[in-house]
Amino acid sequence: MADYPILQEFTEEIYTCNRTRCGFCSVECPVFRVRRLETYASRGRMLAARGLLEGVLEPSAELQEVMDECLMCGYCQARCALHNMDIFASVRQELRTAGYSSPKHERTATKILEEGTLFDRPKPIRRVGTTPLYLGCAYQTKPHEVQTIVSVLEKVGIDPLISDEVCCSYIVGAVGFADEFESAQARFRQIYGPHLDGAILTVCPTCTATLHDEYNLAAKHALVAVAERLADMDLKPLDMRVTYHDPCHLGRMLGVIEEPRQILRALGIEVVEMEHHGTFSTCCGGGGGLLDVDRNLAIEVSKNRIRDAAAVGVDTIVTACPTCQPTLLRGAGRMANELGHFVDVLDLWELLDKALD
Ligand code: SF4
Ligand code: SF4
Repeated sequence: MADYPILQEFTEEIYTCNRTRCGFCSVECPVFRVRRLETYASRGRMLAARGLLEGVLEPSAELQEVMDECLMCGYCQARCALHNMDIFASVRQELRTAGYSSPKHERTATKILEEGTLFDRPKPIRRVGTTPLYLGCAYQTKPHEVQTIVSVLEKVGIDPLISDEVCCSYIVGAVGFADEFESAQARFRQIYGPHLDGAILTVCPTCTATLHDEYNLAAKHALVAVAERLADMDLKPLDMRVTYHDPCHLGRMLGVIEEPRQILRALGIEVVEMEHHGTFSTCCGGGGGLLDVDRNLAIEVSKNRIRDAAAVGVDTIVTACPTCQPTLLRGAGRMANELGHFVDVLDLWELLDKALD
């Protein structure tokens, strides 16, 4: 057995998969759906992990590239009884220890650790209020979208407080930088300290899952708070027919599946479900740092999601994620010729704001 202390913790699980090889995880793995090679599905990744443990495979740039071509979307884990995401993160961690990691992931992690943000944000967004609202890096770069969210929250009686914040650093942990993720978490706790003991509203699905599951904070996605107030709202009906794309972290990982649909129905919108939705929704292509390492693959994944929407005869997707929306829009642009029309991708907050006018 080769010496991989982090991966070795999962030896039993890896062998369970290798003995079972049931493949429930594979068919709808969004990367497998594009690559059509077993290596890219969870079952293949588990075999690679065994290869490392047994010394049959050596760490290499090729193996690292395969492991980086995973969206960390959790579809396979939802189909499986194992800790697939932890195993993949451990493989990435072991490969990095052996000297193999994507330079782009290194740059991203360094930027977050040095600057406290994933994206450049010339002017941090702040707001005086009473209920802590953590925006996260993506929304910090989207002042117009934040204005819309704040407008909706004000209209439903919430007075959001946007204070000093740093990146939740999800991506640092997801790409295998475990020690750095611990330091990033300590810094987050220091800067967001005044709000750690109470409820925190969040708007980015990934930040919500990270704060809730990794930091053990009382983070609640703001759409849930809105859904709780639906009975008291005076909404102007919107005459639309749409499908809803569940962001992986919001739907599958946090179980916020019904609330966005309740809101859409309350807006008078007909919701048509795609074949893969809710817990078994598939990724938009923007997860796990894939956009950094293979943008073309990420776009192919997003094109498949657009095909899913077209297959149920709708030309509007609604979602609630600052990564899913632009990623799906990119896919929609590339699919317009093939489909003969453009599938639009709208943000649920925009629709809410319109209906609350
Ligand atoms: S990862 Fe899970 S679902 Fe996939 S083949 Fe292995 S045991 Fe089966
Ligand atoms: S996490 Fe998603 S992309 Fe990665 S192997 Fe599992 S289903 Fe495929």
